[in-house]
Amino acid sequence: TAVMEKILLRRSSLLRDQQQAWQESLEGREMLEFRQNLPAYKEKDTILIAILQNQVVIISGETGCGKTTQIPQFILESEIDSARGAFCSIICTQPRRISAISVSERVASERGEKLGESVGYKVRLEGIKGRDTCLLFCTTGILLRRLLVDRNLKGVTHVIVDEIHERGMNEDFLLIVLKDLLPRRPELKLILMSATLDAELFSSYFDGAPLIHIPGFTYPVRTHFLENILEMTGYRLTPSNQIDDYGQERMWKMSKQAPRKRKSQIVSSVEDALRAADFKDFSRQTQESLSCWNPDCIGFNLIEYLLSYICENERPGAVLVFMTGWDDISSLKDKLQAHPILGDPSRVLLLTCHGSMASSEQKLIFEEPEDGVRKIVLTTNIAETSITINDVVFVLDCGKAKETSYDALNNTPCLLPSWVSKVSTQQRRGRAGRVQPGECHHLYPRCVYDAFTEYQLPEILRTPLQSLCLQIKSLKLGSISEFLSRALQSPKLLAVQNAIEYLKVIGALDENENLTVLGRYLTMLPMEPKLGKMLILGAILNCLDPVLTIVAGLSVRDPFLTPLDKKDLAEAAKLQFSHDHSDHLALVRAYEGWKEAEKDLAGYDYCWKNFLSAQSMKAIDSLREEFLSLLKDTGLIDSYATSCNGWSYDQHLIRAVICYGLYPGICSVVHNEKSFSLKTMEDGPVLLYSDGHLKMLGGYLEFFMQPAIAEKYLSLRREFDELIQIKLLNPQMVLHLHHELISAIRLLVSEDQCDGRFVFGRPDLKPSNMPVAP
Ligand code: ADP
Ligand code: MG
Repeated sequence: TAVMEKILLRRSSLLRDQQQAWQESLEGREMLEFRQNLPAYKEKDTILIAILQNQVVIISGETGCGKTTQIPQFILESEIDSARGAFCSIICTQPRRISAISVSERVASERGEKLGESVGYKVRLEGIKGRDTCLLFCTTGILLRRLLVDRNLKGVTHVIVDEIHERGMNEDFLLIVLKDLLPRRPELKLILMSATLDAELFSSYFDGAPLIHIPGFTYPVRTHFLENILEMTGYRLTPSNQIDDYGQERMWKMSKQAPRKRKSQIVSSVEDALRAADFKDFSRQTQESLSCWNPDCIGFNLIEYLLSYICENERPGAVLVFMTGWDDISSLKDKLQAHPILGDPSRVLLLTCHGSMASSEQKLIFEEPEDGVRKIVLTTNIAETSITINDVVFVLDCGKAKETSYDALNNTPCLLPSWVSKVSTQQRRGRAGRVQPGECHHLYPRCVYDAFTEYQLPEILRTPLQSLCLQIKSLKLGSISEFLSRALQSPKLLAVQNAIEYLKVIGALDENENLTVLGRYLTMLPMEPKLGKMLILGAILNCLDPVLTIVAGLSVRDPFLTPLDKKDLAEAAKLQFSHDHSDHLALVRAYEGWKEAEKDLAGYDYCWKNFLSAQSMKAIDSLREEFLSLLKDTGLIDSYATSCNGWSYDQHLIRAVICYGLYPGICSVVHNEKSFSLKTMEDGPVLLYSDGHLKMLGGYLEFFMQPAIAEKYLSLRREFDELIQIKLLNPQMVLHLHHELISAIRLLVSEDQCDGRFVFGRPDLKPSNMPVAP
C-alpha cells in the first residue's frame, strides 16, 4: 500500500499541475472567469468549510447559480490541492440521464479535459469512466444499483444528491438508504442540493444538518396570463361542445376576434367560456375543477401566434416553450416548421429539449445562434431546473407537465398531463430573467394559476409503490412497511399494503414478503411489474417479438388516432387490423405494417392512410430495442435473440401472455341486448367514468374467454406460476418444461369461444380521480 500511496500522490500532483497549466491558457482563463462570476463561486469557501465540519450539508440556490457544475468541482479541487486528489471518489446523482451526461461534459470542458479523465458519467447502458476518474455523474438509479452489490459504498468519499427539491421516488428512496449508511461510514460526506428554498424538511430529516443558501440574482420578468395574451393578440375563446381523446374535457376553439377589445370584456369572455364548460363552482377553484380547463386544445395555435409575434416585434433573445411531453413537442415542431417565419432557418433556430435527445442535439441548445437568428427551444419540464439555457428572454408556459399519479383506493397508476405547482411556475418564469429583464406568457387564466397547489406532491406519495417495494426487497432492506415508514414523508399504509398485495398476487413476492425468482427478474427491468412480467413471459414462451411490440405500445400514447371529424374512417381503418377483436393484436399488425413500409421509406404515408401516429410508431420501435437489450442483460435471452420467436405467430399463446401478464387487471364483459357491463374476475362491478364508449377509456381491450374458461384459467394459474419460477431458476433448462408450459396455456385458450371476456390493458391513461376497473 505504501507503493500504492506513492502512485496516488504522484497522480494528485500531476492533476494539480495539469489544472494550473489549463488555467494559465487563454481558454482556461476565460472559462475560469465565467465560473468565478457564478453566484456559487462566491460561496466556495463557506461551502467547503461546512462540508469539512459536517457529515451532511444541504445547499440551496436558484437554478443556474452553479450548484451542479461548480460544487462537485470545488470538492474535487480542494481534494487535489490538499494532495488527496487521487484518493477521493465523488459521486453526484442526477434524476435524469440527460442531465448526468450534459453536466459531466460541461464539467470536463470547464477543466480543459476530455470525459473519462478526472470526470466521467454513468447512466444505464452507457458511460465514460477512466482509471483516474474521481468525479462521477450518474443517475440515481445507477447509485441504487451500485448499493445492491456494495452496501457500504466502499471507497466513495462524497455523495452529492442533486435536485432533491423534485422529490422523485428514487431520490427519496436513496435518502433513506443513505441515512442508514451514514453511521456505518462516519467519514463519508453527503451533500444535498436543491433549487428551492424549502430545504428545512431535509435539514430536520438529517438531524439538523446545516443549510447553505446561495443568493442569486435575476432580472424582473413581466408576467402575462391568458387574459392579457388574448387582449394582446385579439383572439377569443369559445367552447365547442366536443369531447376530446380522454372523453371528459371540452375542446376550445380559437377564433380571431375583432382586434383590440377592451380588457374587461375579454376577461369576462374567458370567465364565460369557463362557466359554459361546466366549470360550475368557478369560485371554489379546487384542483378538481381545474381539470375542466384544457390548454392543450387551444395551445398550439396560440403558441404559434405568440412565437411569430415575438419573432417579428420583440427584441433579440431566445424563447423557451414549456410543453407537457415529447409527443406534444414533436407535433408542435412539425406545425411550426410549416410556418413561413418560424420554419425559416435563416430567421429561426428551432430546437427541442427532452429526456431522450441525443447529445449532439444537446450541445446546440447551449450555443448562441448567429446574429438575426432567434433560438426557440421547445422543452419538457427538464429545462425547469436541470438544464439552464443562458440567453433566454421569453418563456411560454403551458402550465402542465406529465406526471405519474396514483389512486390508492383503486390501485391504479396514471400518466397524465397535470397542472404544475406554483413553485414550478415560478421556476419556469425565472428562466426568462437570467441575462436581462424578460417576459413570461402563461397560457392559462390567472384564476387557474391561483388554484395551483403550492408544491407538487412528492412522487412517493402519488405513484404506485410496486417497483419501489421490489427494489427494497432486492436491496435486502427488511420489512417494506417498516422501511418506508422512515421516509422523508411516508406513503399511506393503504398504498404500501396494496403494492405488497399486488406483488404477491402476480407472484413476485411470496407469502412472507420474500422475493420470488420472478420478483428478482422483475427488479432487473425498470418498468411497471406487469409490463416486465409480460416481457419475461414472452421471452420464456418464445413469442417475444409481438410481446415486445405490445409492451412498447402500452408504454406510449395510443397510436390509433381518431380525429373527431373523421371518426368513422379512423375506426374502419383500425378494424382492418383488429378483425379478431383484439386491440393488442391490432397494434402488432399495425406496427409490422409500418415496419415494412419504413423499409421503402413510406412509413409516414402508411401512418397517414391508416390513422396511426407516426411518432408512436417510432417510439414503439426504439422502446422495442431498449426492452430487448434489457432482456439480454437479464440473461433470459441470448445476445443474438435467436431462439425466442418460435411461437410468435401463435395468437392464442400471445393472448394468454397478455392476460397472464396483466392479471389481476382484467375484467369480463357481460352483454345484454343493447349494452354491456364490466365485471371483475371476482364478479364485482367495474365502474366506468364515461358512459360506456370504450374507446374513450383509452382502454385496450382484448377478447378473452368465457367465464367457464376463465375459471379454469384461474385454477391453473398457480401451476403456471410454479412452472415459470422453475424455468426462471434455470433459463437454459430442459425443453420439455417449455413444452409443458406452452401446452398448458394452449389447452386453456384453445377452446376458442371468445365472446364474453375482455382483458384491460391501458388503465394508465385514465384520470386519477375517476373510478376505474380494478
Ligand atoms: P444549477 O445547478 O445551480 O442550476 P448549473 O451548475 O447547472 O446551475 O449551471 C451553471 C451555469 O453554467 C449556468 O449559467 C449554465 O447556463 C452554465 N452551463 C451549464 N451547462 C452548460 C453547458 N453544457 N454549456 C454551456 N453552459 C452551461
Ligand atoms: Mg443543477
